[in-house]
Amino acid sequence: MKFAFFRDKIVPMEDAKIGIMTHALNYGTGCFEGIRGYWSEDRQQMYVFQLREHYERLLHSCRSLHIKLDYTLDDLCNITVKLVRKNGYRQDVYIRPLAYKSEEKIGLGLVGIEDDFAIYLSPFGDYLDVSEGISVCVSRFRRLSEHSLPPGAKLTGVYFNSSLAKADAINRGFVEAIMLSSRGNVAEGSGENIFMVKNGKLYTPPVSEDLLPGITRKVLMILARKDLGLVVNEKVFKPKALFTADELFFCGTGAQVSPIVKVDNKKIGNGKIGEITKRLQEAYFTVVKGENPKYSKWLTPVY
Ligand code: PMP
Repeated sequence: MKFAFFRDKIVPMEDAKIGIMTHALNYGTGCFEGIRGYWSEDRQQMYVFQLREHYERLLHSCRSLHIKLDYTLDDLCNITVKLVRKNGYRQDVYIRPLAYKSEEKIGLGLVGIEDDFAIYLSPFGDYLDVSEGISVCVSRFRRLSEHSLPPGAKLTGVYFNSSLAKADAINRGFVEAIMLSSRGNVAEGSGENIFMVKNGKLYTPPVSEDLLPGITRKVLMILARKDLGLVVNEKVFKPKALFTADELFFCGTGAQVSPIVKVDNKKIGNGKIGEITKRLQEAYFTVVKGENPKYSKWLTPVY
């Protein structure tokens, strides 16, 4: 049997249900996280990656929704470990904490509307290809600016915008979309951040370009600088810069490190996964599988 955390208790998954009048379902008033648990067959251990950092971002998102959870950061981490352990998976998982306006009430607003918190998890493989590289498009759908939404929050409602970009990309035969910021600069993928390699240096758009400040983005910046000795710059760039990049890749909890080999049907570099992308990918997988003791502080063992 599989279990969820729902209304302050661990319950069988099928008992974690909400009503159709729920505010968050009607108005998109929720926020969430996506956290990976990596199963190591060698160590017979499940490592939850960057658990605290994800809950720090969730608490930030909660503030923008006027959601005040009854749990501290430590409580949230402990509940998650307990739930993952209770489910007993021995494979990679994706953990989804969700804070939402739970009141069954018609009418807009945020203040004074009841909220709740839930967590579920599911076995999860690669969200995007990590070996051959993917073909993507530059989307006509842009990210919303800080004038429309609180920046840095992972809000359910925002994912309508991301889903439009993703659906349009898939309809047109691409795997994923690169979205531009409200100002027309490169921002990120529909659900992942983007890096560009040019002349041996790494570039990624700054957070001011309407993107979600990814935890994987931050981790890769550290690994690139400290372990690979690379220069990493946060830089605003136009979509045309994508076509002269030596390498491009997406990163995120779901995407991990996913090479982009074509943009709008034009080859990037030689059309194959690039050297720096490959090295970063190796560094990332070594860390998340608990094989780099230097970064064991980023992992929470479950069993
Ligand atoms: N941007 C968006 C829009 C996302 O949904 C995600 C996934 N949470 C990311 C970037 C990457 O963030 P992270 O590395 O924290 O998963």
